Amino acid sequence: MITGVNFSVWTPEQILKASVVNVTETKTFADGVIVKNGLRDLRLGAVRGSLCGTCGENKRKCNGHFGHIVLNTPVYHISWTSAVIYWLRCICYTKGCTTVLIKELTPPKLQKNRHLQHYSKHVHTKCPECHEKQPKYSWNREKQRIDVNKIHYEVDDVLQHFNKIDFNSLELDLSHPKDMILTLLPVPPPSVRPAVMQGNVVRSEDDLTYRLIQIMRANIKLKKTIDDGRPDHIILDCKMNLQCMVTGYINHNKVGKKRASTREYTSLCARLTKKEGRVRGNLMGKRVDFSGRTVITGDDNLGMHEIGIPTSIAEKLTIPLRVTAYNKKMVQQMLTQSESPIKFVMRPNGSRIDLSFVQRSGITLDVGFSVERSLMDGDIVLFNRQPSLHKMSMMAHEVKVLPYSTFRMNLSCTTPYNADCK
Ligand SMILES: [Zn+2]
Ligand SMILES: [Zn+2]
Repeated sequence: MITGVNFSVWTPEQILKASVVNVTETKTFADGVIVKNGLRDLRLGAVRGSLCGTCGENKRKCNGHFGHIVLNTPVYHISWTSAVIYWLRCICYTKGCTTVLIKELTPPKLQKNRHLQHYSKHVHTKCPECHEKQPKYSWNREKQRIDVNKIHYEVDDVLQHFNKIDFNSLELDLSHPKDMILTLLPVPPPSVRPAVMQGNVVRSEDDLTYRLIQIMRANIKLKKTIDDGRPDHIILDCKMNLQCMVTGYINHNKVGKKRASTREYTSLCARLTKKEGRVRGNLMGKRVDFSGRTVITGDDNLGMHEIGIPTSIAEKLTIPLRVTAYNKKMVQQMLTQSESPIKFVMRPNGSRIDLSFVQRSGITLDVGFSVERSLMDGDIVLFNRQPSLHKMSMMAHEVKVLPYSTFRMNLSCTTPYNADCK
């Protein structure tokens, strides 16, 4: 039985285990053929017309598989920079000193994602072992790096800083901070970043694919600079460039200054957040059956118990009606009349007849049948206006089908719904 879900940072070992391709090629296609070890490698997932190179399934069944890029220098994951800085504060800065500065290691009564912040706020400012005052760590947005007292703190030094202590002995049940610094970059399957197609020809690649290509170019350039033995400041420049590319891929709003000349590609974060993102746009916006929604307006010809429903909605909205000995004759007559309000007939065995395709006169109703008919004057419906702050935001009204496209209500009903039709 599932009792909860635990989230943690993907470790390099897990990234490697999940990966099916080491992506090394910056080209996706060469002479119309998919490049092996490129971002469209068939092992990453099936495309139209060819099966997946990993699981052998077609495009409908294969969800795709992850790949990875080996980075030539560790880079920060922009979403975890604050966590990295929290951890730095918890361990003594002095070289050779392995003191953990957290005052109390008992887990606080907070949400788990707040634990680390709590620990880092309750630390010794002066190391109890070596008596050194601890420096200030900060994220330099412009240069995409961590500074110590405003001086550059190199990524390799940060990693060494973490390696000074054994995290398992702390028993904090938190992700290891060294995993928050990327050495391997996971490459999402093509289903996450589908190419823009025109017929069977690839017109252009997705923004994320372009981002990944930029990262690989910066990565290759860095390796070349190191191999050529270029001066340190040039290597540092290349590292910063790669860091900027990775940050931009994850969240383009977190990159220092924007270069106006190049078009801004979207990033992973932009896919998730905002109103049109995956969470609010695709997961939360679920609609239900037997409901409708439009603008409301006032109508002084309606009673307080009534609500005006547009004909277009009344035709589509149906209510179930059970055929009994008492209404059988009436329903049968309703079924055969011209412009019948009945849309579906359900037999006792559960089979459903859609009347837009079937001759109505051929159906004889019997007790036990049920029908679905569109809304008519006198039906009772629940009417709701958001934000539903109190119980009067949802009340029952009698339907009156009217022309035009708004829900109409008596002006005296505006107060309980908090609707200002003034
Ligand atoms: Zn597959
Ligand atoms: Zn110390």
